[in-house]
Formats: sequence, C-alpha cells, structure tokens
Amino acid sequence: MDIIEIENKHGAGTYAKQNLIIVRGEGASLFDIDGNEYLDCASGHGVANLGHGNKKVAEAIYKQASTLITLFESFPNDQRAMLMQKITSLVDGLDRVFFCNSGTEAVEAAIKFARLSTGRKNIVAAMRAFHGRTYGALSATFNKKYREGFEPLVPGFSHVSFNNIEALDKAVNEEIAAVILEVVQGEGGLYPASVEYIQAARRICDERGALLIIDEIQTGFGRTGKMFAIQHYGVTPDILTCAKSLAGGVPMGAVLIGSRVKNLAPGVHATTFGGNPLSCAAANAALDVIIGEDLPGQAAAKGAYLMDKLKAINSPNIREVRGLGLMIGIEMKQKVAPYLKTLQEKKIIALNAGMTVIRLLPPLVITYEQIDRLVEALTEVLTSEMKNAE
Ligand SMILES: *Cc1c(COP(=O)(O)O)cnc(C)c1O
Repeated sequence: MDIIEIENKHGAGTYAKQNLIIVRGEGASLFDIDGNEYLDCASGHGVANLGHGNKKVAEAIYKQASTLITLFESFPNDQRAMLMQKITSLVDGLDRVFFCNSGTEAVEAAIKFARLSTGRKNIVAAMRAFHGRTYGALSATFNKKYREGFEPLVPGFSHVSFNNIEALDKAVNEEIAAVILEVVQGEGGLYPASVEYIQAARRICDERGALLIIDEIQTGFGRTGKMFAIQHYGVTPDILTCAKSLAGGVPMGAVLIGSRVKNLAPGVHATTFGGNPLSCAAANAALDVIIGEDLPGQAAAKGAYLMDKLKAINSPNIREVRGLGLMIGIEMKQKVAPYLKTLQEKKIIALNAGMTVIRLLPPLVITYEQIDRLVEALTEVLTSEMKNAE
C-alpha cells in the first residue's frame, strides 16, 4: 500500500501534502512509519496542547465510548453538565456555553448570536484575521487567499487595521452587532494585540452597544501562558470562541457566552453532534490535565525560556521574534518555506504563518531538553544562507 499515492489519488486535493507518513505520537514527539522521531512544534495547528498519546484522555475516551457516545443536547447528560460547569468556571463573566464540533462552527454560532442578540447586522473584524473557512467565519477572515473563488460572502462584514484604536473607533457605530478579534493573530502572522487596543475595543463596544467576540480557538487552553489569552488583558468579552485543544484532540468547539447576549431561546441554533458525551468526556479529562499539571504556567515558563534563546540567535536573516507563551513567531526577511523544509530534514516539524513567519506551537508538555534541541536546530537553520530562498 503506497499511502502517499493513495492520498494524492483519492484526497480532494485541497491540502498541500508533506512527503511524510506519521503514524504515532507521544508527548511532543511524532513518529513516522519507519519509526523516525520528529519534534512536533505544530501541534496540529494548536490542537495537541497536552501532547500526543495522553493516557488520561485516552482512558476517558475509551470509557465513555463503551458507555454512551451520542446524545442530542435536548437530553441532559452527566459528562456534559460536568463540562459546562468546568469550562464556565475558567473565565469570569461567561456563565453559559454552546457546544459544537470545530472552530469555524464556534465562530458561526458567535456571529449568529451577535446578530440575534443585538438585532444589528454588521460585524467588524481585523485585517490579517483568520476565523475559519465556512461562509460566516470566512467573511470575518481577511486574507483574500482564503476568500477568492468563493464570493459572494456574507454581507455586513468590514475589516479594520489591527492594533489601531482610531480605526476601530471610526468603524464601530450603532449598526455594529459585534467586533471580532483574535488576541494573538495566528494564521495572519503571529501578532499579539496590545493591552491598550483590547481595552479600547471593550470600551468602544460598551459605548456603542456592540458585543465583543474574542476568538481563542488557537490561543486557548494554556497556549499563551494563561488559560485564555484574554486573561493577559484584564478584559471580559461578551462571547469567547474556542475549539482546537479543548477536547485533547477530539473534534469539539465551544462558545462561551456572557450576560449581555440575549434571545438565545430553544430552537434558534443547534448542531447534531454538539455536546455529545464522547467529546465532553474527552474535554473533561483534557481540562483536568491542563489544570492539574498547570499547563498554562508551564507554557509561560517554557515560552519565556524559548523566547530568550530565540532572541539571542544572531542572524541577519531574522527580522523579529514575537509571541506570547508557547505561541511564537519568527519573522524572517525572506520566504520561510525553505527554512521549514530544512527544519523537517533536521526532524523538527514547524509551521508558517503567512509567507515570512515561522510559527512555533509545540505541545505545552514539551521538555526543556526538547526546547534546547529545537533552539539548536533553529540556530543552524536560521543563520545559514537559504539557497533557494526568494
Ligand atoms: C483554527 C482557527 C479557526 C478555525 O478552526 P477550525 O476548527 O479549523 O474550523 C478559527 N479561528 C482561529 C483563530 C483559528 O486558529
């Protein structure tokens, strides 16, 4: 069986495939079909915060799978109730939750709730923002590479320059249902928001009666050194979207909802798999690990350690190193594809964020020895001339 050939033949063709067959994971390590070990600094785009092969999550999945996998949310369930309690206790002021199955679905729900709640149509998002690929979320997403070929998108969306208080102030009026922002822009190039910006966004939304939606799909569950990135900013949003690492790798999304969100009556929104006991059990176990092992604290400490070492790399090829916790971007002066390829030859799997940023999203359980190995490889790669770099 030629695995790569089969995927190339039968896949839809929508993914640029790596020439690497991954079959197993353990902690921050991934293993290919020949048993070669790779250091995972991508975490499936921020899904594997707990690392791979976590035994507590695996046991919870097995146990729940043999107890009850599926149950529509109209019937209460022990695992779901437990998760509702747990997830709403993570951040002050967001006491209700809508469960779904992915990030983009969480953003769809957030947009629908904002329009329904305010009776207004328009949504302000940021330039460089990424919020997902379904129509509502795609309309909030900025980069034309995701949008082209799919128009017309949903009407009512506009984009303002990120971290620019004046632009936001101008864009938000009494017709705006919500402002949606990432606190650290992930796909868009790894740009953290300034504290002043997020606090101004809160104030502007309050003044004009708009809701503030914070998209924590990539930044959530310890990634940035706190449970949610918004907790660095002293601001409570009206709606917080999360997904990716919520259920330890099992597909799940959630929308946390504050008291200003109105009109959420039976029937206004639903999804078949939402709040299914299997995903809830996985999420309960994952959150127990995140809290019990203080993964946010680990991300803060390891992120600071890694950031210091990266900033000390002396290379004319590096423009800037920036980030928050274990969400780090290295902006290069050239395209990063050749760097990522060379890193992979050195058994490091990393991501890009746009054309010129290397993005590091390792599992939060990465060890200091593994961080040192990463720094060593990066130092070699980033200080050398890239032959085919444009
Ligand atoms: C990944 C991501 C999404 C989309 O999530 P999917 O599960 O891929 O639909 C939305 N917003 C942000 C910030 C993301 O990083």
